Amino acid sequence: MISPQTLKVAIVGGGPGGLAAAIALSELPYVSVTLYEKNPEPREAGAGISLSTNAWRILDLLGAADGVKGGSKANTQQRNGYNGNILKVIKNPEHSDKDRRGAIRARRTRLQSALLARVPQGVIQFSKKLKVLENLEAGGVRLVFDDQTEAIADLVVGADGMHSAVRRTIFPDHQLRFNGMTAWRVIVPLSSIAHLTDITQATAWWWGDGGHVYFSPVDDESETDDPLFEITLRSYHEPEIPGQTVIWGVPATNEKVASRYTKYDPRVRAAIASVPEGQWREFAMFAGPRLENIIAWDKVALVGDASHPLTGAFGSGATFAMEDGWILARAIEHVRASPTRVKDALEIFAEIREPFYTRAFDWLDKRGAETKQLQADNKDLDFESAVRGRLDRFFGSENELNWIYKNDIAQVWKNYLEKKPELYLP
Ligand SMILES: Cc1cc2nc3c(=O)[nH]c(=O)nc-3n(C[C@H](O)[C@H](O)[C@H](O)COP(=O)(O)OP(=O)(O)OC[C@H]3O[C@@H](n4cnc5c(N)ncnc54)[C@H](O)[C@@H]3O)c2cc1C
Repeated sequence: MISPQTLKVAIVGGGPGGLAAAIALSELPYVSVTLYEKNPEPREAGAGISLSTNAWRILDLLGAADGVKGGSKANTQQRNGYNGNILKVIKNPEHSDKDRRGAIRARRTRLQSALLARVPQGVIQFSKKLKVLENLEAGGVRLVFDDQTEAIADLVVGADGMHSAVRRTIFPDHQLRFNGMTAWRVIVPLSSIAHLTDITQATAWWWGDGGHVYFSPVDDESETDDPLFEITLRSYHEPEIPGQTVIWGVPATNEKVASRYTKYDPRVRAAIASVPEGQWREFAMFAGPRLENIIAWDKVALVGDASHPLTGAFGSGATFAMEDGWILARAIEHVRASPTRVKDALEIFAEIREPFYTRAFDWLDKRGAETKQLQADNKDLDFESAVRGRLDRFFGSENELNWIYKNDIAQVWKNYLEKKPELYLP
């Protein structure tokens, strides 16, 4: 029996954002949490995921850092995709048992399992695809699922990803569009391609014209006898096929994937060809304009990709999503004694997280304009010189993005409390 003071929270979606919110909110004794996930079981369609200092900080706060291991990204290579020439080596902080703050690439399933292990039993309900969200005048929100069941909650957390049903309901005018980019991703045993020179030694981007190939270890080799390895390909100018392009994690044929990379270095082509048929997964990339608000109805919050359709632009979206979930829990905790606690908590959440996303969109706009200018300036250069120019311009200034990759979300919360210490404390 739930006491009148208990806040009933419904989280829609069990990705990194939803799981982080479930962990952080479940720690609050006056909050009752249910997470509704449309899949029948935990499922992670992606391949690997990069984790940097910001990720380790939030994973520590969620008690999930120990469960995530991966391959080092200490020295990443930038190569010419057509001949393998190394154009630049980027140094990232080394990750070690002593100092876990370094950069790694991990299997996505590892991150998901580490988070799942921290969610209390009984919180997650699978096979619950949200169909309808209704703002109840008498208070609360009704959620209707495609199995015809319903739930009522005081607060709904939309953690249902890029194509969020929660976002579509609260902001029906917001539209996503296909940005022309498609990714194909797979994880293979490292041993299956280890014979190919220069492919498996380090995380590497092999740049081409209109696409690139990304190779990365996703396992710490000292930890497993059979380490896995990620291959992710991106093609920048794919046609939109009406009715078919909304593709996320579905199988793609080897013929289709290989057809985009016929001019690449033979080692790259051999690695692509080594993947057994049926294993590639295709991801059509969608993006949308920035949202003016990430809260609505005084009882709905958007976290993770649902709140900022950036299509993985910074390679840190899972961390953003986890940070969102944790901050939302801090805000709820902070205003627990307020008579209007849901509304107040959402306002705090938005006050902290909206400027972060605004900054991300602004940065991308600036980068887009700079890239266009650079392309115009370099239009007479040969391919390799043009790529070098881009790498020198854009990969030389790592500190520029410290506000993302070194973000200390606990400090962000402390800073907020210093500014607004008086709010609603009992
Ligand atoms: C090619 C690519 C590479 C990337 N690389 C990185 C990287 O290296 N590092 C990084 O941090 N990020 C990376 N990202 C971004 C990262 O994957 C996302 O930002 C992150 O997964 C967002 O987490 P989320 O919880 O918001 O959403 P998701 O992970 O998308 O999870 C949403 C969940 O909601 C569920 N769901 C959806 N609709 C419903 C519904 N109606 N009802 C119930 N459940 C529903 C889904 O099944 C899913 O489980 C990459 C993205 C792409 C596309």
